[in-house]
Amino acid sequence: MKGWENSLEIPSSHPRYESLKKRETLLDFYQRGIVTISGLISHGRGEAFDYIIGEKSQSFALEAEKAALEKMVRSERPVISVNGNVAALAGEEIVKFVRKYHIRVEANIFYWSRERMERIITYFRSLGLDVLGMNQDSFIPGLESDRGRCEREGIFLADTVLIPLEDGDRAEALKKMGKFVITIDLNPLSRTSRFGDITIVDDVQRAFRNFLKFEEEEYNGKVSSFNNAGNAESAIAYIGERMTSIKRWPDL
Ligand code: ATP
Repeated sequence: MKGWENSLEIPSSHPRYESLKKRETLLDFYQRGIVTISGLISHGRGEAFDYIIGEKSQSFALEAEKAALEKMVRSERPVISVNGNVAALAGEEIVKFVRKYHIRVEANIFYWSRERMERIITYFRSLGLDVLGMNQDSFIPGLESDRGRCEREGIFLADTVLIPLEDGDRAEALKKMGKFVITIDLNPLSRTSRFGDITIVDDVQRAFRNFLKFEEEEYNGKVSSFNNAGNAESAIAYIGERMTSIKRWPDL
């Protein structure tokens, strides 16, 4: 958008460097028509939780991520669902991940428009990855038409679906279809998080960076021993403890 002054030079020593870089990226992708205004608001909700979580992957996140990686690698038809925010924040990491593990990616957006779908798909193509989404020939039952669109070869026939930054209705509808649902959401209290079979409470970019780092011996056997409800409770308790233990301004 002309006149939008969002091109700050952020020094890497700035205490909020990572967070400010993400905002810059989202504004850039907003101007490119990939992220929506509503996506910017959603990011704000996530950021608030991340601030409290400490802006790093805590142990409950790492445990869930290892189980999620094993589940994706062992599934027959795993699919990663991507929207505008996910493309902006973790597109490059997703492309590296998919090259390593050969998992399909499908563009699936809340505010549907052919133009925005094309932009997301073209963006991934510019990174060298063909993603599904332009041939939406199937529907997720229980959702109104635009929001339920998906591809038969992708989400519709998937056994495991990874849904970062998803809305609760779609997460619920995917569960009702019998999918194994893996969520990535900084808010452990969101409806999406509650519908996860594996609930990852972490930033989407950090989650994919962690997936890329794990060696097989780190994730092997994690699914069978993983207790999702217990792990999500650890995330909720962690946030509660952080809030009650902070009594004064931390050191600058
Ligand atoms: P729900 O319908 O699941 O209850 P919601 O209405 O609270 O979700 P939405 O605006 O639909 O929220 O989706 C945004 C979600 O994405 C929020 O729960 C927010 O915490 C999460 N989120 C935003 N940015 C990130 C990020 N960078 N990484 C992970 N999660 C994020």
